[in-house]
Amino acid sequence: MSELWQLSVTQASQLLADREISSVELTECLLQRIADVDGRLSSYITVTGDVARQQAEMADRRIAAGEAGPLTGIPMQIKDLLCTGGVPTTCASRMLAEYVPVYDATAVGRLREQGAVLLGKGNMDEFGMGSSTENSAFFPTRNPWDVEKVPGGSSGGSAAAVAAGMAAFALGTDTGGSIRQPASFCGVTGLKPTYGRVSRYGLVAYASSLDQVGPLARDAADCALILQAIAGHDSHDATSLPDPVPDYAAGLNGDVTGLRLGVPQEYFGEGMDAGVRATVTSAIDQLAALGAEIREISLPTTEYALACYYIIAPSECSANLARYDGVKYGYSHRGEGDMWEAMERTRQHGFGPEVKRRIMLGAFALSSGYYDAYYHKAQQVRTLIREDFTRAFEGVDALVAPVSPIVAFPIGERTDDPVRMYLVDVYTLPVNIAGLPAMSVPCGFSDGLPVGLQLIGPHLAESRLLNIAHAYQQATDWHTQRPAL
Ligand code: GLN
Repeated sequence: MSELWQLSVTQASQLLADREISSVELTECLLQRIADVDGRLSSYITVTGDVARQQAEMADRRIAAGEAGPLTGIPMQIKDLLCTGGVPTTCASRMLAEYVPVYDATAVGRLREQGAVLLGKGNMDEFGMGSSTENSAFFPTRNPWDVEKVPGGSSGGSAAAVAAGMAAFALGTDTGGSIRQPASFCGVTGLKPTYGRVSRYGLVAYASSLDQVGPLARDAADCALILQAIAGHDSHDATSLPDPVPDYAAGLNGDVTGLRLGVPQEYFGEGMDAGVRATVTSAIDQLAALGAEIREISLPTTEYALACYYIIAPSECSANLARYDGVKYGYSHRGEGDMWEAMERTRQHGFGPEVKRRIMLGAFALSSGYYDAYYHKAQQVRTLIREDFTRAFEGVDALVAPVSPIVAFPIGERTDDPVRMYLVDVYTLPVNIAGLPAMSVPCGFSDGLPVGLQLIGPHLAESRLLNIAHAYQQATDWHTQRPAL
């Protein structure tokens, strides 16, 4: 048997059900793994050893009583942007360094109800703003495949932890690529669900019309189990979808025969790494060999997506982050001067440089006289991007593309050039603009670093995407490769 920390959710769940292992053993093994390797990777902001041990004991009792679900007793990491009752939730920001929520985010609460075990909170870019986890106010996370490289972001801690065997799975969030891109950089499987499929209640808001919660795990079968647990309507989030949640695991038949897969030509543009192109192309060939029909398609407004996103996301961020004023909660820099000065100092010291940049960009785009030229125009472009996808899905069942034009880059390489950093997300953010579901599936290596294949589907087509990924993973073993640490 492989070491316990290497197990997928599906494997661990089976061993727990068969009483081959206990959740306490599994949890201790993962906590030990964190103690052994996280010093080199820094994927956790907080490790909740005591909470984990307690929850594992409870899970073992549930299993013994025959009341277990597929996630009962499975150790997980939660991105630090999701509220965990009684456990610090910092958003990787000095602003919330001391914040301990009194409630769970809905997605977290649903996992807790299932009996999943909380190992701790994942490092990330401050408030989710970034693509490399270098914007964490505390420390950068390192890529388990090469510690000199970034793990991607903003859910970099989550992707690194799953890749390095420091969690069986993680919950991340994706506003413009933050689940898929780190999943791609670290060689794990990530799913960004349809906007509204998973409740955003208790997810600290970055850009509310784009944010979505989803799993990072070893494979598509695991993602199906996790999505099953967290998806569905929530009366606390008016944008959560009322549509019934299908049985995702039951939909995994591994058959893609006759499925029409579109390859958007705009997603293979200039600036793309030759190794990434070759790897993704051969993954598409593999899907063809499995019986899928491959068609070239076009998403003509793709070139405007980056500009559109970087107006809408900062605009929403500037409104959402107005709540951090040093009065209601979080960091407060009082002392000399009046209320306004205290507020100014609080925001000056509480926020990092990228967050400030976004707030300024957004406040500018929304200000009177500029609103029509920027925000309103971006909303119109958003409609065009959405229509591109709608048209594409009239002729194909799903799209296949790279997740990122490049593989994991050296730490520090792009921190001085925000636009170069933003460009890393060109192939992921159109999906958020349109509110679609998408996955990152490990499909090979370039320069020794993992490459992700992106699958994009129409609204609520998570089952279809999971099944395509599952078919691919049954025929290949890229998702089983683990970094040597
Ligand atoms: N890198 C993108 C940004 O900085 C996306 C981040 C995310 O999905 N949270 O906005």
